[in-house]
Amino acid sequence: MSPKGNLFELAAAQLAKGQALVDLPSDVTEILAQAKNELIIQFPVQLVSGEVRLFKGYRVQHSNVLGPFKGGMRYHQDVTLDECKALAAWMTWKCALQRLPLGGAKGGVKFDPNGFEREDIERITRRFTHALGTNIGPEWDIPAPDMGTDAQVMDWMMDTYANVVEPHSRHTVKSVVTGKSVACGGSQGREHATGWGVVMCIERWAQRRGVTLSEVRLAVQGFGNVGSVVAKTLSRLGVSVVAVGDHTGYWLNPDGFDPFEMAQRRGSHAGLAGASPDEEPRGRRVSREEFFSAECEIFVPAAVEIQITSEEAKRMRCQLVAEAANGPTDLEGERILAERGIDIIPDILANSGGVIVSYFEWLQNKRSEYWDENEVRSKLESRMVNTYSYVEQQRERLCTDARSACYAIALTSLVKTYMGRGIWP
Ligand code: NAD
Repeated sequence: MSPKGNLFELAAAQLAKGQALVDLPSDVTEILAQAKNELIIQFPVQLVSGEVRLFKGYRVQHSNVLGPFKGGMRYHQDVTLDECKALAAWMTWKCALQRLPLGGAKGGVKFDPNGFEREDIERITRRFTHALGTNIGPEWDIPAPDMGTDAQVMDWMMDTYANVVEPHSRHTVKSVVTGKSVACGGSQGREHATGWGVVMCIERWAQRRGVTLSEVRLAVQGFGNVGSVVAKTLSRLGVSVVAVGDHTGYWLNPDGFDPFEMAQRRGSHAGLAGASPDEEPRGRRVSREEFFSAECEIFVPAAVEIQITSEEAKRMRCQLVAEAANGPTDLEGERILAERGIDIIPDILANSGGVIVSYFEWLQNKRSEYWDENEVRSKLESRMVNTYSYVEQQRERLCTDARSACYAIALTSLVKTYMGRGIWP
């Protein structure tokens, strides 16, 4: 269970709100409320030290009605079945919202990667991939990076999978995972895609609201892949990064942090705090409560789920919450933000850049093509911008909030497919 509540209950409540806007037949409602397959695997790993440890891995496949299951693999000590179920369902809505021919899945291994050597992480990854066997596959279920995993982990997964298929198929199965390094068949821009997508949404929001980005301040929670890319990209647009935080602490600096320098330093350590006090971000260390009260215009949660509850929502002093993380706001938090006139760009829209470029990577692998960064970025931008505008349009048409509008769009597309295909045998 996540620290502040059950994520699957949050996902179910959000779905119920979206469903109310769409004419959803009861059988489709029942199907979509549950995952199609839920897999739990216990697998032993012999660590570098010689010790043998048992690990618990998960893969939840929510829906493949629109295409192969698709979703990240998370390495974190709090991974649970309910968390994977929620995250897998969100992937289904995200892909449907962005009109990708992909379904939804999520998985992971319950352990803290920060406490392990790189070689141990390789062993854990290869054993997990081997144990998953044909439960993943380029036309069946395609993992990607998420919290605690990166391109290197995806390279190991792909290599392990490729080495257990027939030798003549090895080159055709590269697309079994996305988010690989470019050298191993990954796409240019994949590492930055989620953060770029968040910024593209923020730019549209600013345009519609008449906000000049070079005059605004950003608070970002989480400074990993997504949080650091958001901070760096926005700072290039003139935004001042005044509040930062991660699992090692929170800092404020009204004059603005240098996100490039911080990202570089974080590279050699596990968190923003660094290895000693003189390596901390150059600002004032504050409590989590003070961080959430920081005066800013844009707040980007880019860490773990359920961070904005009623408590945080009451004290936040921003105009926009752009949800880079999955499920960062609970229902009560969302209600209070809305009451206070704070806009939300919901997760399934804001962070969908990652799965869009994963789709591009999958296509490039299947077609043996290589797209350069400009091509990837402009194709990403066109999808993000079109979907953002469509969500705004539907939000106004349905007189609802942005999240429910996203659900209405995604569910409409899923229902059409279910109704067209029917149930057989
Ligand atoms: P990451 O592992 O690179 O970074 C995670 C960050 O969260 C780190 O800075 C870590 O210190 C921080 N964090 C962890 N626990 C925390 C806590 N309890 N309090 C405060 N900070 C904490 O992961 P990422 O890939 O940047 O993912 C961040 C979020 O974005 C996740 O919710 C993930 O599901 C979501 N997301 C990621 C992608 C992607 O492409 N990587 C795509 C879509 C959504």
